Order: sequence, then structure tokens, then C-alpha cells
Amino acid sequence: MAPGGDSEFELIRRMTRSVACFSDQLLTGIGDDCAVVAGGAEADLLLTADLLVEGVHFDRKWFSLRQIGSKAVRVNVSDIAAMGGVPDFALVTLAIPPDVSAASLEELYAGIREAAETFRVTIAGGDLSRSPDVLVLDVMVLGTTERGRAVLRSGARVGDRIFVSGTLGAAALGLLAARTQQRGPDAESAMARQCRPEPGIGLGRALSQGRLATAMIDLSDGLSSDLAHICEASGVGAKIRLQDLPVSDSCRRLAAAMAAEPFDFVLHGGEDYALLFTAGPDAVAVFGSRRFPFTVTEIGEILSPDAGIVLEYPDGRCEALRPSGYDHFR
Ligand SMILES: [Mg+2]
Repeated sequence: MAPGGDSEFELIRRMTRSVACFSDQLLTGIGDDCAVVAGGAEADLLLTADLLVEGVHFDRKWFSLRQIGSKAVRVNVSDIAAMGGVPDFALVTLAIPPDVSAASLEELYAGIREAAETFRVTIAGGDLSRSPDVLVLDVMVLGTTERGRAVLRSGARVGDRIFVSGTLGAAALGLLAARTQQRGPDAESAMARQCRPEPGIGLGRALSQGRLATAMIDLSDGLSSDLAHICEASGVGAKIRLQDLPVSDSCRRLAAAMAAEPFDFVLHGGEDYALLFTAGPDAVAVFGSRRFPFTVTEIGEILSPDAGIVLEYPDGRCEALRPSGYDHFR
């Protein structure tokens, strides 16, 4: 628990309340997936950073060093995707504990390079230090969007539909499967989703270039938490329909094998790094057409703020959907 018992988000709010801004180029500051900075007549710049701390964000029991390196870059690229941008440059800072040898460090860096090459990110700098105990990776990525096209968390409007890409819950189920030593193809494919997130750059680009999404976030903390971020930033409420949430057959089987409820992971699991976005009713026809080559699922709608955030069960019953995703200060 953090000092004062705050959640991560309350802490950020408290610490950044009186941060001064010395530039009129800052278009969107603290509180979105990336900061947006005016970059000239044609482009806006996107800045994001993510910190991975051993024992908090990963355990070397379940991840190879190559996977950890790759994931550190991928989660940053996902924040660029969540704005509809393209990643360009990265700064990579590492703190290396004594039990990571020079050969292991090369493995870690091979993972960083693999992800950087996949997403055409140029590693432009960073820093390296010894660490007394745990491995720490701090990656910052700089990206771009066309001017004025970054998709913020704050643009959702009453009547918009809510969509997600891909299927949900696999990453968190994969981690539970590893911890409980589940074997077999379902456990392996879920753990692959945990170790190797696939940032939705292509989808994010299509949504921003086509002006299709009104608000967007990547699913890092879990659907219940990340939807709450959109609702808070946009000043709206939302309803999610349980029966429309996309869950793979593989995840259903894996959850059953572990006597777990798959929707706990779908709603609150986190680290799927799919895109959650809202779009006006007119965009729905585009998502179903052949010129839109991405699979997205409509899962609910944006309501007025007094409706709160609710989950609708197949029998029509609704209950409050409380954010209970990942918070490493809780
Ligand atoms: Mg994010």
C-alpha cells in the first residue's frame, strides 16, 4: 500500500496537482496514455514511459529475460497505439542486479531489439546502472500522429458505442496457469499472451486516420479499470453487456480446468493490451464492412454520467461495475 493508503491513480493525482506547464505546445498532459505535444504544421508528438520492476510487474520464474525485454518495449508501443499513433524512438534505461550475467544481459537486450525491430522503433538512448537487488526496466517511447488526430480518453459522448479488439482475459489467465503449473496448449497460448502483448498499432491508426474513434485506451489494468478511466476523463457513464464480451474457447477451457470464473479475468484481469474505444453510431457500419480489416466487438454503450458504470447480465439485470483491475499500490 502506498503512503496514505492511496491507489496508484489517487497518488498520481495528488502528486501532479500543482505541476507547472512552461510550454504552450503541451496539448494533453498527465492523465492519458501518452502526453501530446504540438510538433509543427503536420504532426503531433506522443510521449510515454512505462516502468517494469521485478517482483512488482514480473517474476523471473515465469518470464525469460528475452520475454521481459520484449514486453518492456511492447507495453510502451501499446500506449502509442492507444492514441492512434506510430512509434518512432525509444530510450531504454536498465538497472541490473548482480545475478544477471553479461550473457543474460545480452538475452534481455535481444528481447528489447526484437520488439523494437517488429514495431520499427529506433533505440536512441537511455541509461544503464547496477541495481542492488532487483531488475528494473524503464522504457520511454516517442511517437507521432497527424496533427490534431490523437485519440484521447476524454472524447466519449452519450450514445457512443463501446468496442474492444481481440479477445479478453488470456494474459491474466496465463499468469494464473503458470503459477498453478497448468500444462497443455491452452495454458501455453494464454501465457504467450501474457509474455508477448501485441500492440494494436494498425487498428489504432485506422481509427485515428478515419476519425472513427471518439475515445481510446489500451487495456493494461483490466476492462473495469480502463473503462472507468475513459468515463472519468469524458465525464460519462457506461453499460457493458456481459454476454457480448469476447472470450476465446481456449480461455474458457483453461478457466474451467483451474475452476476459475473466466469473466473475472475478462473484466478485471488486465495486461491484454487490446484497444478499448468508443465510436459514434455511424462508425458501426464501417466496422462491419470489408474495407475495415480488423476484428472489433461491440460490448456496450456510453450513458449519461448519473447512470454510473454498470454491467448488464444476460437476464437484463444490471449491477455497478467497480474498477478492480491491477493496482500495485493496493
Ligand atoms: Mg495505457
